Amino acid sequence: VVEAEAKRGIRPRASILSGGEKDFRPHHSRQMPVLPKIVQIHGDVTLGEFAQKLGIPAADVIIKAMELGEMLTMNKLLTTDMCELLAAEFQVQVEVIPENDAFDVKDIIGENVEIDPAKLRPRPPVVTIMGHVAHGKTTLLDTIRKANVAEGEYGGITQHIGAYHVETDRGEVIFLDTPGHEAFTAMRARGAQITDIVILIVAADDSLMPQTIEAINHSRAANVPIIVAINKIDLPGANVQKTRNDLMQYSLFSEDLGGDTIICEVSAKAGTGIDHLLEMVLLQAEIMELKADPEARPQGVIIESEIDPQRGINATVLIQEGTLRAGDPFVCGDVSGRIRMMINERGEQVDEALPAHPVEILGLSGCPQVGEHFLVVENERQARQIAEIREARRRRHTQSEALRPHVTLEGLADYLNQDDKPKDLNLVLKADVQGSVEAVSQAVKRLSTEKVNINILHSGVGGITESDVQLAMASDAVIIGFNVRPDNSAEDLSRNEKIEIKTYRVIYGLLEELQAAMLGMLDKKYKEITRGQAEIRQVFRVSRVGNIAGCYVTRGTISRNDKIRLIRDGVVVHEGELQSLRRIKDDAASVQAGYECGMGIRGFDDIKEGDVIEAYGHEEVTQTL
Ligand code: GDP
Repeated sequence: VVEAEAKRGIRPRASILSGGEKDFRPHHSRQMPVLPKIVQIHGDVTLGEFAQKLGIPAADVIIKAMELGEMLTMNKLLTTDMCELLAAEFQVQVEVIPENDAFDVKDIIGENVEIDPAKLRPRPPVVTIMGHVAHGKTTLLDTIRKANVAEGEYGGITQHIGAYHVETDRGEVIFLDTPGHEAFTAMRARGAQITDIVILIVAADDSLMPQTIEAINHSRAANVPIIVAINKIDLPGANVQKTRNDLMQYSLFSEDLGGDTIICEVSAKAGTGIDHLLEMVLLQAEIMELKADPEARPQGVIIESEIDPQRGINATVLIQEGTLRAGDPFVCGDVSGRIRMMINERGEQVDEALPAHPVEILGLSGCPQVGEHFLVVENERQARQIAEIREARRRRHTQSEALRPHVTLEGLADYLNQDDKPKDLNLVLKADVQGSVEAVSQAVKRLSTEKVNINILHSGVGGITESDVQLAMASDAVIIGFNVRPDNSAEDLSRNEKIEIKTYRVIYGLLEELQAAMLGMLDKKYKEITRGQAEIRQVFRVSRVGNIAGCYVTRGTISRNDKIRLIRDGVVVHEGELQSLRRIKDDAASVQAGYECGMGIRGFDDIKEGDVIEAYGHEEVTQTL
């Protein structure tokens, strides 16, 4: 029985009762309900569900938790440890069945979905084109498509389905046609890595630019090999040699210089060097020995999905294993269905799709998320069953505060001490000027010890953006801002995804906190919170008073006594306090979002239209176990 249970993933847990035959529980005293001896907990449960399993009022559990120093509510998700601790208080033993999707799926379809290495066959590479804006990503995609989409079939009516495949003499290549590292990393942040090779496009008249560097770092964080295409060599201003030299600073150099990077020179517009580039992509693919099993149970990843007023819900799936056929029942995330129709990128109806091929599918019960895993099952009933389990789980997770999945400085010591193995601490570092980026990188790297290797995934100048947060999500990193702040979308995404953004004014402050965090001695009593934000719409010069910012409050509330910082293009220009806060002509204690106001900053006059004033304060953190 134990063995069978172990196989099913049931972890027997020790409790104060295990091993002892005697049961001292006060079964028969007063109205005390008879508690079960043992309860099974499948995956995450909320406090309410936990109480229900024990057959006692939730209030009793809340009180017990309080006695243990924990303030909990009905909808709070309990950690495994918390369940055990609480159950022990009620003298009940818990068996935790870990929540595991692969396990649930296997349970329902009755087989392992793992791949048999003996059946693997070569498959074409999946390529993403990245690079700085206007360096030629779209042009390159178009040129390749026009030149190589199966002879004569490029009739102009190509459908945008998120990817397409081209045929060359040497083999096939699949291109994802949402170029750029943002889409690439967003997909990876959702757990789907489908790109095998990145083509990094660099315009020879412009050389490396900030997004080029982001693209390099995002590809590296994903461990995806980079092939460089130096573009626009037809331009008179093209400086290929300078571009090559600049690439070397990022360790991208060609074989003749002792490196291992393939660097091609192309003109996407004139079509020069494109065949050679494709050949190099296929050469790289051969080295990688990309394989898939065309006979396996079909699996893939959703790369696009939309609701079309005429055709209903449709999605594009990139097949990873197996051969997808019309009529197959499937589940992707919490959406299920049966393939009613499959359409390729030329708008043609097809009956099957092979590994690495993109295909648009019709017949979905809902709109799946991009990046969602797709799996063919035996029948529609199974598909619905799996979808329902996932749906219920998702609902529970959004209802209550989800368990914190990402690394944070606060939780760093626990993470490092999980076991004796050395660990990586990934950081994304943004600073106001290049000098700070370098100084901070070096100082931070020096904090690495035998147990923790501090890894800077990406560093750059400027405010913290959504793309930084995506990278942190995909690679489980903490974001460090040095004299910079997150923009609104970065802030929202980080809050929803529980990605930590720490910002500092002085290097010393950052180093001190990082060190304390590694030792588990971080002072967690107070944390900074942003109270409000206002945009400067106009600057008024007032004699003897100085410059007054005519503002519009965009978020939260700004109060006269808050601390404030002035942000210009994501960079913190000044930190201090307000001298004055006025609504219309009167002094105001605070001004809410949606209202205009005038603000003077104490001892600071260098304000400009478009600057942001952020009000912040500190809040006591309630301690948790
Ligand atoms: P993206 O923002 O990276 O997708 O860049 P685009 O593909 O939109 O290209 C930006 C501009 O550069 C467009 O005006 C293109 O016509 C031009 N362009 C792209 N490739 C070349 C090239 O090889 N030579 C020249 N002269 N112009 C190019």
